[in-house]
Amino acid sequence: MSAFALPQLTELERILDAGKSHLQIEVACEVELPAGRLPVYAIAMGNPAPEVPAIGFFGGVHGLERIGAEVVIAYLQSLVMRLQWDNTLHRQLESLRIVFMPLVNPGGIALGTRANPNGVDLMRNAPVEAAAKVPYLMGGQRISARLPWYRGLAGQEMEIENRAVCRVVERELLSRTFSIAVDCHSGFGARDRLWFPYAYTPAPIAHLPEVHALKEIFLQAHNHHRYIFEPQSHQYLTHGDLWDHLYRRSGEQAGRVFLPLTLEMGSWIWVKKNPRQLFSRHGIFNPLIEHRHQRVLRRHVPLLDFFSRAACGNQLWRPDGEQRQRHMEQALQHWYPRAPV
Ligand SMILES: [Zn+2]
Repeated sequence: MSAFALPQLTELERILDAGKSHLQIEVACEVELPAGRLPVYAIAMGNPAPEVPAIGFFGGVHGLERIGAEVVIAYLQSLVMRLQWDNTLHRQLESLRIVFMPLVNPGGIALGTRANPNGVDLMRNAPVEAAAKVPYLMGGQRISARLPWYRGLAGQEMEIENRAVCRVVERELLSRTFSIAVDCHSGFGARDRLWFPYAYTPAPIAHLPEVHALKEIFLQAHNHHRYIFEPQSHQYLTHGDLWDHLYRRSGEQAGRVFLPLTLEMGSWIWVKKNPRQLFSRHGIFNPLIEHRHQRVLRRHVPLLDFFSRAACGNQLWRPDGEQRQRHMEQALQHWYPRAPV
């Protein structure tokens, strides 16, 4: 047990205890705070064989965005509970590896800050320089850890939490021919968004046809959905995005497909419905009213399950040959109408 009474950590440890016979549980690193240490858990289930596809779920990267961690924990809990009776889930796990890092930045959650305890924004901290102008401060800055969106010192290795994420992603996801990552955040805009790389450049990624095909099967299965699928660069460019970094790492091995997605739960709607939230630092990033909190969890947990199924069945929807070309053309038209082909 950890030294802190961090509710999300207590909840996570309770679920890990309930599911331990089916889970591989690792403390990927420990974060030091004056009051004690906090573990960063990495949890895996399913078939560890390198031939099977994998999916990873990440939450709590920004300490203020607790709802992201809670969505990931809620999904983990539902899987652990279903393992007791759901034989279709057991069958799925024979051909899928699933990993979870629900609380990547427990120090930030404990302190109520976006950044980690060193003041570093983990989503600005990777060794990636933006290819074009980024928004002032928000795109990542090296002026001061006291200002938001601090990248850390130039030339230093990444923060301990990011190094832990990279190790787990490289071992569990990039080692396979197909994998997806879903990193759950909140706080941007009034709509729920699914972002894919890049954040550092307006240029398209090499696996645009695969993202487009994934979007297509998602729309087919969820025609009442409310998510906007788009490259992060449509909203703003940043330095140091961790998923840009890991996506580029994945490209070092030919024939591997790694699709990192960021779920940005649109929180301005929660504020609009309850303007008093504006006066609470947590309120801007998290639904404060219990029924709204429940609704957010209910809405997004099925989304995470959809991505698990999509990873598992990737050979049935991943385009090749002419189909891939068709997806490429449609994707460029849809997302990059002005890009040179
Ligand atoms: Zn965030």
